[in-house]
Amino acid sequence: MSKTLPVSKNDQIEVSFSDLTQDGSGVAKTTGGYTLFVPGALPGEKARVQVVKTKKNYGFARICELTERSRMRTDPPCPIFDQCGGCAIQHVAAGAQLDFKRGLVRDALAHIGGFKEINVEKTLGMANPWYYRNKIQVPVAIQHGSFAFGFYRKRSHDIVPMDHCLITDPLIDEIVQTARTFMETAGVEPYNESKNHGVLRHVMARTGRNTGEVMVVLVTRTKDLPHRKKLIKTLIGKYPQIKSIMQNINLKRTNAIFGETTKTLWGRDVIYDQIGTVRFAISARSFFQVNPQQTEVLYGKALEFAGLTGEETVIDAYCGIGTISLFLAGQAKQVYGVEIVPEAIEDARKNAELNQIANARFETGKAEEVIPKWRDQGIKPDVIVVDPPRKGCDAALIQTMLDMKPDRIVYVSCNPATLARDLKMLVPGGYAVKKVQPVDMFPQTTHVETVALLQRNFV
Ligand code: SAH
Repeated sequence: MSKTLPVSKNDQIEVSFSDLTQDGSGVAKTTGGYTLFVPGALPGEKARVQVVKTKKNYGFARICELTERSRMRTDPPCPIFDQCGGCAIQHVAAGAQLDFKRGLVRDALAHIGGFKEINVEKTLGMANPWYYRNKIQVPVAIQHGSFAFGFYRKRSHDIVPMDHCLITDPLIDEIVQTARTFMETAGVEPYNESKNHGVLRHVMARTGRNTGEVMVVLVTRTKDLPHRKKLIKTLIGKYPQIKSIMQNINLKRTNAIFGETTKTLWGRDVIYDQIGTVRFAISARSFFQVNPQQTEVLYGKALEFAGLTGEETVIDAYCGIGTISLFLAGQAKQVYGVEIVPEAIEDARKNAELNQIANARFETGKAEEVIPKWRDQGIKPDVIVVDPPRKGCDAALIQTMLDMKPDRIVYVSCNPATLARDLKMLVPGGYAVKKVQPVDMFPQTTHVETVALLQRNFV
């Protein structure tokens, strides 16, 4: 027999909020002890809410009226904040966002890792937590019969029309709007996802923050891009910062933005940017950190934790295009980078060459397979840096690291839960967690990046 729930769909009730989830929803308990998740509500607040959906152990509701406001709350400046899936916590004041992120790391370490005593440093934030993104990619679609340009609604493929994105560099934000206006006026047909028809799928622009260079990428379903010459003339006439205009052709009905073919329409096929003293060539499809200012802060911490004197052998696992490897190479004897995506390794090698860095070697493959091979070849790292994707390190890699016994492990993590899980395996293997430093790479969102330093125990 199913248990009756304390609330039903459409009920309106008064609740108090005690917590904030990782995706920015407020958490409340009803009088019957049932948990409700309410987007937009903050801990310490009270509200009259309407139940939207119920499940066995929890449900969802929406705010009808906020009856008590938190001091953490601020008015979100973006007019589409409520609808857009991009930013989840614009309604949280800047300082409180940093505390929230520190709390996420602390909670994960305590609850998942069992580390109740670890000191988590204060989150390193930005003085101005806006306009930081160096890349913007905007979907274009036919919606209700007309040209729609904007971001996807939360958990949906509907487009919320967007005129400005407040977390994006203002120049590229303006450039994509100029491209949009041109295309819309010229009558270029937007992509129709349900029919896999139409021309223009995405407009993307990225900029090198330290060089000011801009690349524009038009993603189309067709080989041809109508009014191409006039569009190029309009863009380069107005924006001398543009150094590259590319077209990517994506023929498939897919969620992936890019297709296989990329053509240069005008200028170079790369733009340059610089992190610290290292220069990077960035192509249309290369992965590059989206917040360059905070990337320097993050890598600066990784460098500090690595404690290099020029004599060390360093392994950079999950190295991407070699950003951390090349950032560390100047202060190490030798760096080895490993990464699963072959194109990223090609970029890493080119970037090493571009910077005349001769002491970095890169190999394509899985970290958990390549590093054991290096171990068998007699490579003895003093420091291992890992920067895995959200799912964390493979268990085989953790075991290999413990076998190799580096003095220090620097763990760069984009997911506190898997960081906590992996530290729980590393610590009993002979390491002490010396520092845990959250860095806010993505202000206004709930994402948090963390750098942790593990030091080998000598017995
Ligand atoms: N350190 C880089 C990129 C980190 S993102 C930077 O800061 O720019 C994580 C990277 O791990 C991605 O490039 C992804 O392609 C790679 N990756 C995912 N699984 C992997 C595995 N099993 N072995 C090696 N690399 C992997």
